[in-house]
Amino acid sequence: MSAAAQLCLQCGLCCNGVLFSDVELRAGDKATQLTSLGLDIFRKGRKQAFTQPCKCLERDLCSIYANRPMQCRAFECTQLRLVDQGAKPLSAAERKIREAKRLAGEVAQLCRDLGHGDETVPLNRRYAAIMSEPMDLAGDERGVELRGELMLAVGKLVEVLERDFLRAAVKE
Ligand code: SF4
Ligand code: SF4
Repeated sequence: MSAAAQLCLQCGLCCNGVLFSDVELRAGDKATQLTSLGLDIFRKGRKQAFTQPCKCLERDLCSIYANRPMQCRAFECTQLRLVDQGAKPLSAAERKIREAKRLAGEVAQLCRDLGHGDETVPLNRRYAAIMSEPMDLAGDERGVELRGELMLAVGKLVEVLERDFLRAAVKE
């Protein structure tokens, strides 16, 4: 197994609703077939997309790997590319994944604490829902505090995701 493949096996961040909230289908994808395989496909403007966390992700593994959609085949995060190019050791990329998962776990826990524990909803939507709720500044001290912690945690997570997973891979 390649080093890059080993990396994905312990990650799942591009499938579990942390990096993306949905994934658009591309030319060549067959929506009917993908639906029968278990993907939750919906209309997104003029396109079709499937929801994240992906219904076909099982313990960080894609259960429809051989038949996965085009975008899933095409996407390579920064860490995967760097390891693939031989520009970064596997162990360093693994550390980045552990860090991102730890931060995502903190955000998820704060969302749960604030009453948004539905794991079928991507993190950014749970965050948006919490922030759109009215806040009782005078009567709910704990809620105000938790929201502040959530904003900080989301800021850190977004920084790590953008820097370490979504930017073009360049030698480090
Ligand atoms: S985020 Fe990167 S390392 Fe993680 S599963 Fe996706 S492509 Fe693989
Ligand atoms: S189909 Fe497979 S590779 Fe694509 S998002 Fe779902 S679990 Fe990930």
